[in-house]
Amino acid sequence: MPDYATLCTAAREAVFLASAVCREVQGSLDELKAITKDDKSPVTVADFASQAIVAKVLSDHLGSGVILVGEEDSKWLRQDDHATHRQATLAAVQTVWEDATEKDMLDAIDIGAGDTHHAGFWTLDPVDGTKGFLRNQQYAIALAYVERGTPVVGVMGCPNLPRDFSVPLDVPDAHGCLYAAIKGDGVFEYAADDRGEKPTKITRLDHAGGETLSVCASVEKAHSNVSDTDRILEHLATQGHPAGEPVRLDSQAKYAVTGRGQADAYLRMPTRKGYVERIWDHAAGSLVATEAGCFVTDIFGNALDFSHGRGLEKNKGIICAPPRVHGLVIGAIEALGIGKDQA
Ligand code: AMP
Ligand code: MG
Repeated sequence: MPDYATLCTAAREAVFLASAVCREVQGSLDELKAITKDDKSPVTVADFASQAIVAKVLSDHLGSGVILVGEEDSKWLRQDDHATHRQATLAAVQTVWEDATEKDMLDAIDIGAGDTHHAGFWTLDPVDGTKGFLRNQQYAIALAYVERGTPVVGVMGCPNLPRDFSVPLDVPDAHGCLYAAIKGDGVFEYAADDRGEKPTKITRLDHAGGETLSVCASVEKAHSNVSDTDRILEHLATQGHPAGEPVRLDSQAKYAVTGRGQADAYLRMPTRKGYVERIWDHAAGSLVATEAGCFVTDIFGNALDFSHGRGLEKNKGIICAPPRVHGLVIGAIEALGIGKDQA
């Protein structure tokens, strides 16, 4: 098994190129919507193209034995009546993999059909934050290597995420950010569109008492319980920790925003009992935030456990925050009895 630095280099290249492909698809959103007459199509094209590129680059760097658990497979794209999507996906793929054929692309997508029954595997969300991608707001290409139930390498491309904290988060940035983390070695920030740029190490400072807390959460109300989030913030205010209105953004960019100190917490409160979080929605992002100095747990304070297949079966929701704020939020959840019906 190659060392983590080698894995991280391969993952960075894969996510860098997949970010370029997603940007390309984003630029032709209207065209794609027109060809296929629905809103799902551009996402579909970006998802498949991004997964093909990540799989291809990982295999080129690390050999054909790569085990990749991706969100997509090629079954749908191979169907006769989806030729328009296939061609659009191939055109997107060819922007960085010039001589790819349709077969190359479909086979590459299927490298991502690996399973989790291995001591180590990659997991990929080729376009996390679908709705954000469609709104030309935040989305992420999230890739992680999970070893014995723990992410040890995590790379996240956020092509629309501004580096400048003073720019609103719902305005797409011209360059975007890319985060790369190795467990125990910290997390580094790169430009999403410039390989040559020197990376910056990200370190999360704990929130100073007395300042207003800023939290972030999903844009989509179906993904995180808004009323529980509000109750937690009201409770914290009564304890002398007032919080502003939550900042809403899509995708695992929330982990990066919290990790780099722009938000004091990321709250993902469960919406319904049966929902199990997917590993590719959290593996890369949670490592990025952890390596910056955040605690990342579920709403009961339990560590995320990536050793139960494609879902975080043993966890409910997510709380990501620097240590002091994390303790305050978990305390509020306990005091309010939130999640008792989820356990
Ligand atoms: P976000 O952009 O943070 O709102 O999260 C997007 C992710 O939410 C998608 O990748 C989905 O896998 C996931 N998702 C879908 N339904 C739910 C749900 N009911 N609760 C939590 N997450 C969900
Ligand atoms: Mg996702």
